[in-house]
Amino acid sequence: MEAMALRVAYGMPPRREFEEMRVAKDKFPFGRDYVLGGCVLKPTKTVAGFLCPRCVEARKAWLADHPER
Ligand SMILES: [Zn+2]
Repeated sequence: MEAMALRVAYGMPPRREFEEMRVAKDKFPFGRDYVLGGCVLKPTKTVAGFLCPRCVEARKAWLADHPER
């Protein structure tokens, strides 16, 4: 896999996101196209990371199965 620029998302993540991150470790470790930067806005907009097409698909399926409440 080649490293690519992932968006940094600032702010408090929604509740579903914590559940997603727990599941992601096993099921789609490289499926998230952004990383969490915390609540304090910083100038950093992207970080180097990895995205794997299979993980992206697995994440999409999981999100579809777990709609935001
Ligand atoms: Zn993968």
